[in-house]
Amino acid sequence: MGESSSKRYASADEAVIGFLKAYQEKSQNELKEYGAVVYRKRGEYFLGKTHIGVEGSVIGIFLEALNPFKPGRTIGTIHTHPQEIPRAFGTDSKANSFSGMDAVLPGIRYLGAPNGAIYKSVKNRKPNTVIFEGLAKAPNNTMDVKVFGNTKFWAELFFRVKLSFRRLRRSRKTEKQKKK
Ligand SMILES: [Zn+2]
Repeated sequence: MGESSSKRYASADEAVIGFLKAYQEKSQNELKEYGAVVYRKRGEYFLGKTHIGVEGSVIGIFLEALNPFKPGRTIGTIHTHPQEIPRAFGTDSKANSFSGMDAVLPGIRYLGAPNGAIYKSVKNRKPNTVIFEGLAKAPNNTMDVKVFGNTKFWAELFFRVKLSFRRLRRSRKTEKQKKK
């Protein structure tokens, strides 16, 4: 987790663009999600710590947003999706839109997408908007910059639970094999 930056911006969108210019490509190279919380204080916008997650989540931004001792008012969160994924529930976005889990993030949601665009979601049921294009694209990117629907929450949750059980079972199996 990186230190929070003292840099101030005139708008939340500008703060997000600054963050993603710095971390989008890194996120894609490492196949890890990067994220931050966007704050506002005295009419200026700034970012909290830089969180580094795994492919599929960056839980640190959620935890930081829940922290009652905030350096300012929470405006929203930014995170990246490092590459296209073929499996997305109820959307053909291939991760160029928010996931079902992203719907629980507080405030405005920003996404650095595999197609090099920055998507903004102000309300869960409203369509996303594109606020910037031309960031680094994921090496496996095939998607044009357009607005896609978000992944469906319950279908994705069910899949993620199933996947984690499968991983758990697999790791138990390898552990048993090690003991032999
Ligand atoms: Zn996401």
